[in-house]
Amino acid sequence: MDSDTPPLIVDIDGTLTDETRAIDPRVMPVLREWPARVVIATGKAMPFPIALCEFLGIERTVVAENGGVVFVEATDELRFEGDHEAALAVGEAYRNLGHDLGFGQIDLANRWRETELVVSLDQPLEPLEELAAAQGLVVLDTGFAYHVTDPVVDKGTGLEAVCAELELEPAEFLAVGDSVNDAQMFDLAGEAVAVANADETARERADRVTDATYGDGFLEAVTPYRE
Ligand SMILES: [Mg+2]
Repeated sequence: MDSDTPPLIVDIDGTLTDETRAIDPRVMPVLREWPARVVIATGKAMPFPIALCEFLGIERTVVAENGGVVFVEATDELRFEGDHEAALAVGEAYRNLGHDLGFGQIDLANRWRETELVVSLDQPLEPLEELAAAQGLVVLDTGFAYHVTDPVVDKGTGLEAVCAELELEPAEFLAVGDSVNDAQMFDLAGEAVAVANADETARERADRVTDATYGDGFLEAVTPYRE
């Protein structure tokens, strides 16, 4: 790797993982040794990307909950955006209709969530979309969950917030992802790469699409910067 390596912003699920959401272990040394800034940008709640950074041994620079939560360790900045009360109201109304969020009693998917709500893909989408719209929220299908999200945030606004803290420009970044929730960060990044398993929106908004899927796709995406 040379000093021209761009900062990297990368999604977790479907991009660093396989189809079961297990991290591909081969991505770990790449992230750990990346010579520029690495930002983990995910729909997951903050503890998951924080833990990933911690176990990788890299600085904790995180966009969580699709942009609702931004943490920049270097400047000790933690920012929340989005209407969590509205998201919780959607969840309550959804349960009152007899549906379930689909993650069991303990619900590790929502337990540490601070701005959004997620619902399992095996639950009905239509009533969720109606309730979300009534609260001014949108439902994103990331391929791993339905995210009830405030449209004022996305991974693009998260990238901008990180850049403001670190005096970087979004256009300096290489972005890698797989889903509709990566589209706005793709638009802002200097180079956006969708892995081959990406959904149609991510593919359309990317500058290139890899031949390989999942973790193999991520490794292919960064290959030009590792030679
Ligand atoms: Mg993803």
